[in-house]
Amino acid sequence: MKPANSIFSNTGVTVFETMSRLAMECQSINLGQGFPDELGPEILRRKAAEAVIEGPSQYPPMMGLPELRQAVADHNKRFYGLDVDWQTETMVTSGATEAICDCLMALIEPGDEVVLIEPLYDCYLPMVRRAGGIPKLVRVEPPNWDLPRQRLSDAFTEKTKLILFNSPHNPAAKVYDRDEVQFIADLVLKHDAYAICDEVYEHILFDGRKHIPLMMLDGMRDRCVRIGSAGKTFSMTAWKVGYVTAPPNLLTPISKAHQFVTFTTPRNLQSAVAYGLQQDDAYFTALAGDLEAKRDLIANGLSDAGFAIMNVGGTYFLSVDIRSVGWDGDDVDFCETITREAGVTAIPMSAFYQDADINHFARFCFSKNDVVLTEACERLKRYFNS
Ligand code: PMP
Ligand code: GLN
Repeated sequence: MKPANSIFSNTGVTVFETMSRLAMECQSINLGQGFPDELGPEILRRKAAEAVIEGPSQYPPMMGLPELRQAVADHNKRFYGLDVDWQTETMVTSGATEAICDCLMALIEPGDEVVLIEPLYDCYLPMVRRAGGIPKLVRVEPPNWDLPRQRLSDAFTEKTKLILFNSPHNPAAKVYDRDEVQFIADLVLKHDAYAICDEVYEHILFDGRKHIPLMMLDGMRDRCVRIGSAGKTFSMTAWKVGYVTAPPNLLTPISKAHQFVTFTTPRNLQSAVAYGLQQDDAYFTALAGDLEAKRDLIANGLSDAGFAIMNVGGTYFLSVDIRSVGWDGDDVDFCETITREAGVTAIPMSAFYQDADINHFARFCFSKNDVVLTEACERLKRYFNS
């Protein structure tokens, strides 16, 4: 028989599914895949339920419900001062994942170079390649994950079509500051490139940090696509509602991809998310505040268990250097072993690299109940100190 597509045939099952399956099998505390262990805001869930009962039950418009698109435009203005025309510059997708896929399919021509920063979210590389892009990888290095400016600058060439840029960054939990974002903006301009900005953790920043969308900087408004996710902003990852903000010259081709990938997204969830985006500032402040306290809880607990912990500026994730507890194997082995023997699951960071040569970090998700986080840290402390 003829072979299937080589990129997906040669790609393994995503690390999130693999580790969640193992966690379930071992009944461990799952701090692997990134999701909160709560139901999410009740008012949004009620809105979604009401919308299912009351209908309509048929396709919403391809670009998304007008009320949600207007809410996305208003949200851009409220938080970032961006003037966005909801009719020509916003689109709703089935999660940020679909938005990323639509953007890559719509903007890349086979042979175009795409700049990416490693470690990277696991869907980026296969999707870039499947779209015909040539990945140009630049690494940020622990513990501070500083941007290697010279190497980034060298990665841009006349063949660069775009940079796929994620801030706040999963898995490094780095929040790029204004100076770094400006550096990227300058490269994008200099090379007449675009930027697809994965900003799903835009409201999850700690210690007074501010999220600076690349789109806010001079010259970037018509070169950037900004992607958000209700899954992260409303702590309900199952909802898979994403939203794209882009200038019309980019959104038009992106919407052509969207029309054939999913066409649309469940109507009831869209209207509930529209309501959610209109919450007052206190909602968004509380989201970050709650997670900051959890960051502190797990940071203290894991330090106490003997781990060297990396800085966390935002997101759901904290990573540790596994050598600090005397582990001399690799991170995959470490994560499997602690799942089976200590009853706690984490994600091996090597999954976020093209080559698994960096394999001594594990990522823990802390968007969990405090009791669960405390118990997980206790288990690891007992395991590594006995
Ligand atoms: N980008 C990043 C960096 C993520 O961590 C995630 C995972 N939640 C996504 C995109 C996907 O978001 P969604 O669930 O809305 O598709
Ligand atoms: N974004 C989540 C994480 O990094 C996982 C999403 C998924 O499983 N596809 O853990």
